[in-house]
Amino acid sequence: MTYSGYSRKQPPPMDPPPQARVRTYWRGCVQLWQAHQPDANGRCAACGRQGACPTLTAVDALLADALGKATD
Ligand SMILES: [Zn+2]
Repeated sequence: MTYSGYSRKQPPPMDPPPQARVRTYWRGCVQLWQAHQPDANGRCAACGRQGACPTLTAVDALLADALGKATD
């Protein structure tokens, strides 16, 4: 599951959307988000873990927080 609601079909925009409360780290998060997407075999393209890796999970939570979405 994702906290932010973003997915490969609906990826986060490189520039923070108007509703983002925190804008300073948005771009860095999106770059990490993109780098840590699973490949066609379901492995993280950056660290090789199967499925959603810890980095992707953490970055997703940061994006969700920036959007004011609850992460718990
Ligand atoms: Zn990764």
